[in-house]
Amino acid sequence: MALFGKMEDLSAPKKDNNEATDVEKVKVLIIGSGPAGYTAAIYAARANLSPVMYEGMQPGGQLTTTTEVENFPGYPSGITGPEMMEDLKKQAERFGTDIRFGMATKADLSARPFKVTIDESKVVEAEALIIATGATAKYLGLPDETKYAGSGVSACATCDGFFYRGKDVAVVGGGDTACEEALYLSGLTKKVYLIVRRDELRASKVMQDRVIKAQNIEILWKHQTKGLFGNGVVEGATLVKNMGTPEEEEVKIAIDGFFLGIGHKPNSEIFADYIDTNEVGYIKTIPGTSKTNVPGVFACGDVQDDQYRQAVTAAGSGCMAAIDAERFLAEQE
Ligand code: NDP
Repeated sequence: MALFGKMEDLSAPKKDNNEATDVEKVKVLIIGSGPAGYTAAIYAARANLSPVMYEGMQPGGQLTTTTEVENFPGYPSGITGPEMMEDLKKQAERFGTDIRFGMATKADLSARPFKVTIDESKVVEAEALIIATGATAKYLGLPDETKYAGSGVSACATCDGFFYRGKDVAVVGGGDTACEEALYLSGLTKKVYLIVRRDELRASKVMQDRVIKAQNIEILWKHQTKGLFGNGVVEGATLVKNMGTPEEEEVKIAIDGFFLGIGHKPNSEIFADYIDTNEVGYIKTIPGTSKTNVPGVFACGDVQDDQYRQAVTAAGSGCMAAIDAERFLAEQE
């Protein structure tokens, strides 16, 4: 991986030597390195915008935690998530994107150039900013989720459900995400347990009705997950029914897959003082564009998408962000 040691390039962003602190001026700054960020980088680099990208805490984004990706057009035999991200990265570098390891920790978007602090130390000033920071699936926080990561534990039914065809699986959660995952999995698997901690679902009425009507979804009301078991891969889950009451009891279910559906957290906190978000934190964009409420700041990928959350839709929105940024910068000249 060529993260460091890039040769001096005349088209690369220039250091501002007049500044006492470590400040660098760039034309287009991309924060985040999933399919949205890399696609934005490919388009911005090919438009001669010399983009600089900071990869963030998880270079390659959520897809690096997935095994096989079979639904991204153009890969007839499938590809692993990490391989696909490595390919996208190489493609972005091929056109001159300056890809760096680092995490955006602060942002001042009150005026252009926008000031983004990297790793609490360096400040990058950007004429245009593309936010592609993604979202993070929430986990329960059980050690077994880490132990069986990639071996039966998943937070994405659309990505991994196919591997559980004809098997028994469980989904945790009672909101729209969990119901959607349970319904998707019910079409592939033999049986789906929906593990719900209360005695009601939070999901919209229409989703509740569909889940309740599905023949092969069994809702385990008032159940919480204590742990997972299995020899190298998930073979079952230990649940607690009626936790904290005199009727509390331990229940074991045999499953091959354990899916988290307790929500996602969009990574938008550092921009929240300037950028409009919905109540959960997803960045609002002007419909049909990647434009945020701040002219010159664009958002793409899962940080602005609570509906589709697919690699291909993220890539498409990354392309939009680069084109929007290019047009914005052209208008400023
Ligand atoms: P929500 O916050 O709506 O629901 C989270 C669910 O997970 C709740 O049932 C919650 O239980 C449960 N949960 C949270 N933490 C735990 C835990 N530690 N242990 C067990 N259960 C837990 O998140 P969603 O992702 O479902 O939805 C977020 C937003 O996105 C919503 O506005 C939703 O409508 C929207 N959305 C819309 C979709 C669509 O329209 N197709 C698809 C997906 C999401 P409890 O209820 O007890 O708090």
